Amino acid sequence: DLTDPELASEAELAFEGALRPKSLQEFVGQSKVRGQLQLLLTAAQLQQRTPDHILLAGPPGLGKTTLAMIVAHEGGRPLRMSSGPAIQHAGDLAAILSSLVPGEVLFIDEIHRMARSAEEMLYLAMEDFRIDIMVGKGAGATSVPLDLAPFTLVGATTRAGLLPNPLRDRFGFTAHLEFYDRGELEQVLERAARMLGLDIDGEALAEIAGRCRGTPRIANRLLRRVRDYALVHSGGAGARADLEAVRAALELYDVDALGLDRLDRAVMTILLERFGGGPVGLNTLAVSVGEESETIEAVVEPFLVRIGLITRTPRGRVAAPAAWRHFGLAEHAPGVE
Ligand code: ADP
Repeated sequence: DLTDPELASEAELAFEGALRPKSLQEFVGQSKVRGQLQLLLTAAQLQQRTPDHILLAGPPGLGKTTLAMIVAHEGGRPLRMSSGPAIQHAGDLAAILSSLVPGEVLFIDEIHRMARSAEEMLYLAMEDFRIDIMVGKGAGATSVPLDLAPFTLVGATTRAGLLPNPLRDRFGFTAHLEFYDRGELEQVLERAARMLGLDIDGEALAEIAGRCRGTPRIANRLLRRVRDYALVHSGGAGARADLEAVRAALELYDVDALGLDRLDRAVMTILLERFGGGPVGLNTLAVSVGEESETIEAVVEPFLVRIGLITRTPRGRVAAPAAWRHFGLAEHAPGVE
């Protein structure tokens, strides 16, 4: 799915790797977070210690992995990458932690999905750079303390609220990443176009920027499809894209003017057509589209709220007038003709 912020194929992973900014300076937008991180890294450097643990919160595709890499790169530190779903047992985490070298940056993506037992081990590791390892089984089991090399944990989550408080509290700093505005997305696209060798004008860039859900990952993905389109239509003479080419390419891939993806559209049409625009509870909405409510709340809803299609009320989610217009439906109360 072209506008799924999470889906990443092998080819896309390689492409993303090449496009990732390597320094805070190259990183576009998120100026608040950039300033905060810069201060934290510089302070650690002056005191010759490992930087505090950092939690990065925000929807997929906004640059959390990229920032973790930058934290390591700027400090000249090695980086270890892992993810919550890969840490199913405390032992999985113990194996990672005990093999870290001094000053290493440990990135745990989707940290809210880690096993409970591992979470508890992480508390002590973050606080004291120490873990307790259980040796033996049953009545004879004893716990043996193990000192760890000092490290910096960079955790990523789609929403800070998904983490238990004791874990959240152990991060020295939580960065909340925001969706990117048009100008920022144009900068991301301009850089990527240069790297792709695509000749594209400002109008065309702006059109892509308006359809990528405020998300650099999607911006880059749409740009690749536009590049393909431009290449094919030039007969291989060289990729040049204008507004017309962008519109044609994105129409071909069903990316609408707001950049809504299949799940966004499913949520919106159910809210509008089945529930007459709401209010409807988050869980009901999630069940109706066959998704987990966590996904709806952390991944789908923030963007729909931001572009003014949904409002959150104490009684549930309500479709805004703009939603009826976008889907070409007449606004009406349920049961009223
Ligand atoms: P996340 O970990 O939040 O899902 P990533 O860090 O993997 O997101 O970023 C996805 C893609 O978007 C990467 O290819 C990256 O190069 C690009 N990207 C993200 N943020 C920025 C940014 N601020 N400036 C330039 N490119 C960015």
